[in-house]
Amino acid sequence: MKLLTIKDLYTIAEDDHNKKILNGLNIEVNSGEIHVIMGPNGSGKSTLAHTCFSSYKYIKTKGSIKFNNKEITNLKTDEIARLGLFMSHQQPEVIPGISLATYLKTIKKANSDNFNLFEFYKEVESILKKLELKESILKREFNVGFSGGEKKKIEILQMLLLNPKLVILDETDSGLDVDAIKVVSKGIKLFKNDNNACIIITHNTKIIDDLDVDKVHILIDGKIVDSGNKTLAEKIEKEGYSNYINENK
Ligand code: ADP
Ligand code: MG
Repeated sequence: MKLLTIKDLYTIAEDDHNKKILNGLNIEVNSGEIHVIMGPNGSGKSTLAHTCFSSYKYIKTKGSIKFNNKEITNLKTDEIARLGLFMSHQQPEVIPGISLATYLKTIKKANSDNFNLFEFYKEVESILKKLELKESILKREFNVGFSGGEKKKIEILQMLLLNPKLVILDETDSGLDVDAIKVVSKGIKLFKNDNNACIIITHNTKIIDDLDVDKVHILIDGKIVDSGNKTLAEKIEKEGYSNYINENK
């Protein structure tokens, strides 16, 4: 079943209307699939993720985004999230004054019809264990003083807690040591089933080593210029993007 269909999407920056970022982007993701998006810095990867969530920072000038058979192009961010789309941020927010426990409770409540505090804590404790995080982290202020690895694991924790239909992971592996990458990769494996899907934005293949990747896409100048299987990711890691960039100039 088709979970995400993006057709001919064009985006400009909200604070600079002359800045064209996405330039006719097309992608289709089915349930059960893992897609990887690679591309040089500034090619529009994070913009793509934010645009799927109707971020105020970007204006869609053309094209459409359909998620789970519903047109979401003009929906608001919270409406899209409630439909079961989830994004892990390249630079997770820091929220002083709000404990991790309170934050998690708030997002779980917003996404469930019958919230149960006992079940909630049971679930959170079990996920913390799988992600090799201590329970004491729940008392700390959200992401305040967390290491890079902890911040990214907290993103994965939220993903496992909300159990969305489609996740977009924006460089969740960047800046992580090998062990933390393995934990993040394990989190994706735990999440993934035949009814949901993952889009992983990354620069290296370590995070996908243990994952069954269905498609790898190369994003250059706001457009997908090539798609292939996992070997394409290995080729890019070795050779870089110069072939594509020369071709597209
Ligand atoms: P990537 O994630 O692939 O590195 P981004 O999507 O973050 O790239 O950015 C794509 C391009 O758009 C970059 O040149 C970036 O500077 C520019 N850009 C992103 N957001 C804005 C903005 N709010 N205003 C102006 N330019 C922006
Ligand atoms: Mg980015």
